[in-house]
Amino acid sequence: MDKLAMLGGTRAVPRTHKIKAWPAVTPEDEGAVRRVMAGGRFTSASAGEEEVSSLEREWALKVGTRHCVAVSNGTAALSLALAALDMEPGAEVIVPALSFIASAVAPLHVMAVPVFADIDPLTYNMSPRAVEAAITPRTRAIVVVHLHGLPADMDEINAIAARHGIAVVEDAAQAHGAQYRGRQVGSIGTINSFSLNVSKNLATCGEGGLINTDDDALHRRALMARQFGELLPAKGERSYVAHMLGWNQKPGAIQAAFTRSQLARFDLDDKTRDKNVRALLGRLAPLDGLITPAVPDDRTHAWHILRFRVDPVAFGLPDHLAGPLRGAVMRALRAEGVPVSPYQLMPLPGQKVFRERLGFGGYPWALPGARTPSYAVEDFPHTLRVIEDSFTLQKAHLHPGAGPLLERYADAFTKVWQHRDTLAGHAEGASYQTPWERADEIAAAEWAAATG
Ligand SMILES: *Cc1c(COP(=O)(O)O)cnc(C)c1O
Repeated sequence: MDKLAMLGGTRAVPRTHKIKAWPAVTPEDEGAVRRVMAGGRFTSASAGEEEVSSLEREWALKVGTRHCVAVSNGTAALSLALAALDMEPGAEVIVPALSFIASAVAPLHVMAVPVFADIDPLTYNMSPRAVEAAITPRTRAIVVVHLHGLPADMDEINAIAARHGIAVVEDAAQAHGAQYRGRQVGSIGTINSFSLNVSKNLATCGEGGLINTDDDALHRRALMARQFGELLPAKGERSYVAHMLGWNQKPGAIQAAFTRSQLARFDLDDKTRDKNVRALLGRLAPLDGLITPAVPDDRTHAWHILRFRVDPVAFGLPDHLAGPLRGAVMRALRAEGVPVSPYQLMPLPGQKVFRERLGFGGYPWALPGARTPSYAVEDFPHTLRVIEDSFTLQKAHLHPGAGPLLERYADAFTKVWQHRDTLAGHAEGASYQTPWERADEIAAAEWAAATG
């Protein structure tokens, strides 16, 4: 049995196996960008610009909605989707406790109070039961995140929303192309958002976002919110008059052209990625105490992020705490050449902007009649548990040519699992801190370094 690389043995993933850059850039992508340069129409507001409107048409067709509005990034897409809903300041928006921070600051950007719901520990998505419990007379919307690329329990969540007369906004930034009961994500909520950030499954060469809806009035409001509150005429003179509070969140034509080129091969890449990831997960399935991503039969996974949990009992170290054991497994895998990492150290409610109610200088919480919901991390036990006992694989598996690399990753996991007893000695550590305690400490050090 090969010695662990952590203890001086040979790496299971040879250094010659490199991660392929994502997004992959082909001569077609370069040609698409050059086409825009030659045409000289660079924003969605230039007359005769074709790339942005074509991307909107193509993405609406792919997702299966009547409308799509392209914007400057995924956070803007979510904020403008919420702005389109026209909620009163201090309205409550339910958000999962485990997500990227953008999911929860977007409500704040429109003066809404985020109310967090704990996750389902199998899917890592917001639990419908927790959503139901979080509803109050002030609730106006639910932001449903399809975390890691797995669709959330949309029928249950839509049923709750319908019962209470509130909107559902899908944050599908991680889930392009994923399907739930035969429907594409981004077509299931009231008005929904995607990101085209370079890290996502459908990327641009920079920043971008997309909003999808079937609703004509919401579509019009999203268009106005993107463009200073104006509604630009297809032809004729521009009035420069704003019809509502607007932002400037227009996308660039170069980004739109690049994404259109990526979109042309998206389905094929997506299928290959699915095959590669399933092969990896198939090889990891027999490893005791490693919990691989679950995919309920009624949905598909976009495999944006792969999250793995460690169960000390099944692992054969019942006396160990999950947190320190996970740390030891991560160190061993990294030494073998698998770039595993945590994804989110802290439940969203624990972020200072909520916990200390920073927002707009204490608003929206200070608004008359507004409520301050619980932002105590202990109130989200499933989220805490998952953050503590899991790690993720990101980016390395996105390129369709990642198959051979993932084979070596499977070798590395298998090797580490053969050395489970050795890991026991490395999982101790009297100085163990939970990830959220570490997050606070890292953030304090960042602040001290930046401010002198
Ligand atoms: C990336 C991401 C966003 C934000 O998208 P940007 O384009 O980076 O602004 C929002 N929500 C989730 C879940 C994300 O992963």
